[in-house]
Amino acid sequence: MTSPILDRALKLSPWLSDLRRDFHRHPELAFTETRTSERVAEELGKMGIDCEGGIGGTGVVARIGGDGPAVALRGDMDALPITEIPGREYGSTVPGIMHACGHDAHTAILLGTASLLSSMELPGPVVLMFQPGEEVAKGASAMVESGFLERHDVRSVLGLHVHIPLSVGQIGVNMDRCCASVDNFRAVIRGKKAHGAYPHLGKDAIVMAGQALVQLQSIVSREVDPLDGAVVTVGSISGGSAPNIIADQVVMEGTLRSHRDEDRRLLSRRLGEILSSVASCCGGDVELSFDNGCPALVNDRSMAEMVIASGRELLGDGVVVLDHPTMGGEDFAFFMERLPGAFFRLGAGNREKGIVHSAHTAEFDLDEGCLPIGVAMMTDLSLRWHKELKNVQR
Ligand SMILES: [Zn+2]
Ligand SMILES: [Zn+2]
Repeated sequence: MTSPILDRALKLSPWLSDLRRDFHRHPELAFTETRTSERVAEELGKMGIDCEGGIGGTGVVARIGGDGPAVALRGDMDALPITEIPGREYGSTVPGIMHACGHDAHTAILLGTASLLSSMELPGPVVLMFQPGEEVAKGASAMVESGFLERHDVRSVLGLHVHIPLSVGQIGVNMDRCCASVDNFRAVIRGKKAHGAYPHLGKDAIVMAGQALVQLQSIVSREVDPLDGAVVTVGSISGGSAPNIIADQVVMEGTLRSHRDEDRRLLSRRLGEILSSVASCCGGDVELSFDNGCPALVNDRSMAEMVIASGRELLGDGVVVLDHPTMGGEDFAFFMERLPGAFFRLGAGNREKGIVHSAHTAEFDLDEGCLPIGVAMMTDLSLRWHKELKNVQR
């Protein structure tokens, strides 16, 4: 590893770890990241960087490097309602809340990037987006709605996520499809109550739910191109009150995932059609509601190629082109709905140190060696974007 940018980022390592540990000790749930955003503003202030708070709730936006078209970098700040395993030196001090997705690292990396960029002669402006509420998939859209992208003439966006399946020193990039759209649903299937011994006098909501559940599996297997992939998961069913009563109501909840807008629309439409036709066929009805999350995240190819070029220059062979997108969601997609961009994985696992536990678990941890690498990547990408992509008509 001998790149001047990486060398400079590595010198920030102790400070980056201190920052990350401070955020880790003081996790805050979505849209309550007040301490975190205050610390962000304080650190930016020490670097002489002005920032604007209250963007999309508790978000913070800062701009470095003058006028003109800008590239924007995202770091999300929120934690999760998880109780961390005890005994860690830098463990959470807030009961029931934990940085179990690595957003503490993302915030530290973006501050580190701010520090490095502010010490350089920049070819053009870079906008820093400290985002609230990623875990509830509402933070990015709230920031977008605030209009700061237009105010700052942002033309492209870049985001990263720590990734435990990749070792520290590796970068994972998808050339196009990266993360899935997320739409959660709740269906209330209604029938008519009756004595369990006299089913002909009722309309059995459990039978309706059973038929619908089986039929829903045919959406992905028979209606979506198998090479595109999609998910219909029913994660919860509840209904009925006793063994000898025909249930008059079943509540079914689940999630729909896909990578293409056409498939996203198809899943919702067919879910509704199947539920209502099965229910009406059995003499019942259904009330369906959606909690729409983020759209699919699809990388811009030239931005993805730029990530690969940066990764190769900084890390040599550490770059991995990921063949498979994930069916997980990432609300960075709301920025990329507006602008071309790239989202990449920052290797943060370390098998020898036992850092193998996946995100959203109480055991989750990351190898802090990823922090300066994240800083070097974001810094190099910002410079590279101004050199290579700023003038490309998009
Ligand atoms: Zn998460
Ligand atoms: Zn996350």
